[in-house]
Amino acid sequence: MSEIRTRFAPSPTGYLHLGGLRTALYTYLFARKNKGTFILRIEDTDQEREVPGAVELIYQSMREAGLTYDEGPDVGGDYGPYIQTQRRDLYLPWAMKLLETGAAYPCFCTREELQERRDAATARGEQFKYDKHCLHIPRDEAKRRMESGEPFVIRQNIPQTGTASFEDALFGHVEAPCDTLDDNVLIKADGLPTYNFANVVDDHLMGITHVMRGTEYLSSTPKYNLLYEAFGWQPPTYVHLPVVMKDATRKLSKRYGDPSFEDLLAQGYVKEAIINFIALLGWCPKEEREFFTLPELVDAFELEGLSKSPAIFNMEKLVWFNSEYIKRMPFEEYLRRATPWFEQALAGRGVDYRRLAELMHSRTEVFNRVPEMVRFLAELPPYELELYTHKKMKTDPETSLRALLLARPALAGLADFSEEPLKVCLMGLAEEQGLKTGQMMWPVRVAISGLANTPGGATEIAYLLGRDETLRRIDIGIARLQGQA
Ligand code: GLU
Repeated sequence: MSEIRTRFAPSPTGYLHLGGLRTALYTYLFARKNKGTFILRIEDTDQEREVPGAVELIYQSMREAGLTYDEGPDVGGDYGPYIQTQRRDLYLPWAMKLLETGAAYPCFCTREELQERRDAATARGEQFKYDKHCLHIPRDEAKRRMESGEPFVIRQNIPQTGTASFEDALFGHVEAPCDTLDDNVLIKADGLPTYNFANVVDDHLMGITHVMRGTEYLSSTPKYNLLYEAFGWQPPTYVHLPVVMKDATRKLSKRYGDPSFEDLLAQGYVKEAIINFIALLGWCPKEEREFFTLPELVDAFELEGLSKSPAIFNMEKLVWFNSEYIKRMPFEEYLRRATPWFEQALAGRGVDYRRLAELMHSRTEVFNRVPEMVRFLAELPPYELELYTHKKMKTDPETSLRALLLARPALAGLADFSEEPLKVCLMGLAEEQGLKTGQMMWPVRVAISGLANTPGGATEIAYLLGRDETLRRIDIGIARLQGQA
């Protein structure tokens, strides 16, 4: 069998969306698994849709995702250029070959003429399809008009009868009656090819053996196969991947504010978690297993595991994967990654980030949730006095006030305000005064955090806050419980 060559062929129309990332990932996995070649090709022939900077963003996202390509615009290769606008001159000669055999024809209809016919079709309640008007222009005349500089496009000449078909590795035999297919433009008036033509020519010239792309191309691929036939080329193996849905009703889409890969990274998702999660959106490993590194995915990937039904992007599942990856992260890495998020809420407060990181590591689901979780260390949140009542801890406002009044001078006089002495002090005090541990720790924690749930308990928080702030918050608690504030 010849070497496997696959390509990811994004159009530079914005950020790499997650459906695109999944296509890139599967294509990469398939190539690596089969010791093949993975190629990046930029499909920028629709210049109106191009977004400045999008090509660089694609390179960046691919790099960040770890999807290294063997050939591509910024890495070179023997089949370049890998950007379609840089290949612009090579498409027309191929289209001319189709003109010679009659598989394509030049069309001189103007935009206005086409619009008139489109409107007329709409008025008749019909779907507009190009009516092969220019197919009937005698060849000599067409040639003369083309040479005279009159604007023209080149259209594919779809047979009027019969069917066009192809075999898909996932969807099997796919066919369409030819009379439902439109004579697509292959070369536009500006000389650039459309996607319809460029994908065929480039996949052939680049020796692509396997094409993976979204199911939105399933219905046009029979037409592409007619082009392969017209050229006498061997078509690649097609694998059309079902769409990624946001929910049962709509596709995942940037337009609705669904995040791109870059957005997720910026929100503090871990790239390995994103990749792991994306890999399972429409592919199921043979063994029952959820966690995969990229090399493990390469080993496990098989086309047989792909699903034909749309995959649903379950955000909670991604959050879960992410929290698992964060838990498994070495502590030093967690500290490094969490620090800028701590800074957002706590800059200049002198909080011991290393200690805070120890308390936060197992509780962090996504990094962008960290500032909210630690903000109470910068500012005491408003809280209801009911928080002092806790059945299990056997506390109520009255016992709480007593505990705080006892804790206040003890903490003020504590020589060393670090965790162990804090703990010894508060526990000792509770015992001495006939209070249960919870009856001391709960009110102190409420007074200094204002929260029912915190990373760490009373002593950890007191240490992180430091003496002055701890005492200030206890004073506030006392005043409120005494009904003075
Ligand atoms: N440029 C196309 C897209 O971004 C790629 C389709 C294909 O892979 O053939 O959707």
